[in-house]
Amino acid sequence: MSFTSDAIVLRTWPVNEADLIVSFLTRDHGKLKGVAKAAMKSRRRFGGSLEMMTQVRATFVERPRHELVRIDHFDLVASPLRLPTSYARMTALSFFAEVVEESLPDRNPEEVAFRLLAAVLDHSVEERLWLAITYFSLWMTRLMGWLPELSHCAVCRESLLDVGGWFHPGADGLHCAQHRQPSSGALVAESLHLAQRILRCPIAELAAQPWSARTAADLRRFVIQSLERHLERRLRSAEALRRMATSGSTRVQRPVATTLE
Ligand SMILES: [Zn+2]
Repeated sequence: MSFTSDAIVLRTWPVNEADLIVSFLTRDHGKLKGVAKAAMKSRRRFGGSLEMMTQVRATFVERPRHELVRIDHFDLVASPLRLPTSYARMTALSFFAEVVEESLPDRNPEEVAFRLLAAVLDHSVEERLWLAITYFSLWMTRLMGWLPELSHCAVCRESLLDVGGWFHPGADGLHCAQHRQPSSGALVAESLHLAQRILRCPIAELAAQPWSARTAADLRRFVIQSLERHLERRLRSAEALRRMATSGSTRVQRPVATTLE
């Protein structure tokens, strides 16, 4: 049975002689994996539509008793390469791909996740990269049901909105100064307020204010830590983001690998 859906390419990796396995997030069918036959041989057949984070109109065939769908064609809707590329931007795109790939189960329709990814892709330009990364991380954490309450101490329920809170990789939720664990990280009140705005506003509304690697860096650390704790693994691309944020550098370096090892 053949289906067509809007989709975003997450990753590809080679299989057999000339085929590629493609992981992609569809609007209507959730995350899928499929075989693109002869994609390595015939570049013409799929053109540039298999690049990570390419938005496509995907036509694919479900095969009984097969885990992988057969990809007939991907019609290109928007390529990430239409915008200037840099190491920083490619790292951000790798991060989106890795988080979606690791977090969402296959074949579980999740239209909100699709819309979130499409929205942050539109804003993934050099001057708004850290907004896109922060917005995406916080929303993904919430969509997965992994976002703890941000307004109160998880132990005593004291309000944290005006004073900020503390977080620790080994503990869920935020804590007040009294209940924080040793070597906790601080999440300042300003970042907590920004988190509330992110959860209320479309990303376009937040794009008006300037964003740097320092803007809400504590909030980003907190939500990425929450994602990694629930996934029970470190995210490779998040490590690259951390290095990028501390070096403040967006110089061209070797891009993060986008295929599975
Ligand atoms: Zn407390």
